[in-house]
Amino acid sequence: MSSPAPDWKITFADNTIGEPEIEAVTEVLRSRWLSAGPRTREFEREFAAAHGVEDAVAVNSGTAALHLAVLALGLGPGDEVIVPSLSFVASAAVTALQGATPVFADVRSEVDLTIDPADVCALITPRTRAIVGMHYGGYPADLVALQEIAREHGVRLIEDAAHAPAVFEREQALGTFGDIGCFSFFATKNVATGEGGMVLAKDPELLDRIRRTRAHSLTSSTWRRLRTGQSGYDVDGLGLNYRPTEIGSALGRIQLAKLAEDRVLRSELVAAYRSRLDGVGVPFAEWTGDTAYHLMMVTLPEGVDREEVRGALTAAGIQTSVHYPPSHLFSYYRERYGSDRRSLPVTESLAERLLSLPLHARMSTEDALLVADTLNTSLLSGRR
Ligand SMILES: *Cc1c(COP(=O)(O)O)cnc(C)c1O
Repeated sequence: MSSPAPDWKITFADNTIGEPEIEAVTEVLRSRWLSAGPRTREFEREFAAAHGVEDAVAVNSGTAALHLAVLALGLGPGDEVIVPSLSFVASAAVTALQGATPVFADVRSEVDLTIDPADVCALITPRTRAIVGMHYGGYPADLVALQEIAREHGVRLIEDAAHAPAVFEREQALGTFGDIGCFSFFATKNVATGEGGMVLAKDPELLDRIRRTRAHSLTSSTWRRLRTGQSGYDVDGLGLNYRPTEIGSALGRIQLAKLAEDRVLRSELVAAYRSRLDGVGVPFAEWTGDTAYHLMMVTLPEGVDREEVRGALTAAGIQTSVHYPPSHLFSYYRERYGSDRRSLPVTESLAERLLSLPLHARMSTEDALLVADTLNTSLLSGRR
């Protein structure tokens, strides 16, 4: 089979798609029912079971999951939502899209890249309605502190668990601590379906609202109408079409079943990296709990030019990435919310120094050691 990126010796990300997925997709195509149907329902049940909860709602992206969370909680104009700036822009975007104000919080430190509960506390106002905690690279945000703040101030907690499927903290799955948990199955995520996502919610009524909003708040689905011969439906609210395809759900079921094996391989690669890297900071290096090992981030020392380091790695055929350019520094957010912008010292200090190294189950330990050696060497020659 041809590689997705033939120019790279070691790609930044890859997935574990193989024959079982190809067979499952072929089976969907032969069935000729392509939109959400029985496989989607099975995927929801299996995903819920893998997270120790009753039910889940499958959607067609992690962004859709977050948007449905914001809609279900009724967040809108006049409301403030505290989000980490050092994250993918989706949670800020869906907040702003609904007319609510994203308020950007800093992260804890150079070694813990999750939202800082102390900064969240400092940002709470009478208009705060929700907090978004993101599990960076699969490492849990401080859920005890965030739950405590949410309870104390009567605000909602949304978990952006895009990096963290089936990760457990004190025997409870990430994505089930807050009111709503959102997952992504984008092509580079640990469970990859191309585009896809999942929503978990504590309150069954909230989950039901999310399920109906996913499909225009129709009281009966097309799948059901075709099966039962029933023709009419009512619309009892607003909604969107955020349904996944049956193809994606068939993929997702197999990817979910492969997750445990994928995690072992990723943990071995991370251990290899940590043993060999020299002269860079390694966020979460001391973390001993469960994680999805979604990303292998490093922090370059001050004064090192990240683009030069990336150039040296590229020259060696090694693809890298950056997670994340801070959202509060993007032009849209600067221009729209800049007037009350405060500086986020930890995030801003990390912005130019974070680098994500290749990490996926198709790499070998030797690959990880080669990346580490190439990075170490480039730092020695690149330091000014
Ligand atoms: C990938 C990702 C999203 C968005 O998911 P999509 O499926 O790409 O829409 C949101 N938040 C984080 C942290 C992500 O990594």
